Amino acid sequence: SSFETSGLRAHLLENIAKSGYTKPTAIQKYSIPVILNGRDLMSCAQTGSGKTAAFLLPIIHNLLTNKNPPNTENNCAQPVVVIMSPTRELAIQIWEQGKKFAYNSTVKVAVAYGGTSTNHQRGKILGGCHILVATPGRLKDFVNRGYVSFASLQYFVLDEADRMLDMGFLGDVEEMLSHQSMPATGERQTLMFSATFPEEIQQLAAKFLHDYIFLAV
Ligand code: AMP
Repeated sequence: SSFETSGLRAHLLENIAKSGYTKPTAIQKYSIPVILNGRDLMSCAQTGSGKTAAFLLPIIHNLLTNKNPPNTENNCAQPVVVIMSPTRELAIQIWEQGKKFAYNSTVKVAVAYGGTSTNHQRGKILGGCHILVATPGRLKDFVNRGYVSFASLQYFVLDEADRMLDMGFLGDVEEMLSHQSMPATGERQTLMFSATFPEEIQQLAAKFLHDYIFLAV
């Protein structure tokens, strides 16, 4: 199996090669076709498995195909993709990988995390972003202040769902997934990644995923 046979666009293949990736990891090999086929996904994924690229690559492939400019209306950004990550460090890693894969393309990636002033992040986000990577508290804050809405959202990714649970963020995750601007389950693509599947995470999947594929690699 190779990235070349995965159906990903040539520009993306170039950026993958620049990242030094020669061969998909197992989770990438199995997740990429599921996501390209438009299915919801619940995937068992450890850190180090290559899970970040497993969701970023097919999503960026589709964004490159669509070529719509990022939407900002009335000082409110409408990202196409929202990725929730439990920690600032993880959010930054996802953002950096996203920028590498979107390099030299029209796709814009932004990040929002707590513990730092909102102004800079807000400016970047309102300047236009297709993909927003965010930690729960800061995302909730930006949504509640009206800086971000889910009106144009097509993909919602929940990374490290079990850590969200352990860190007490599941309420914030549910609040975002139930927000009035959030497209209904089944009208967006929802992807969840978790190393373990406690009852609470299974319930979350049952509530917010639509006819999903369960993948354990
Ligand atoms: P992740 O599990 O997404 O945190 O990725 C773990 C590390 O593996 C990161 O440093 C990635 O850049 C790297 N990585 C992901 N996919 C591949 C691949 N197909 N080939 C080589 N390295 C990869």
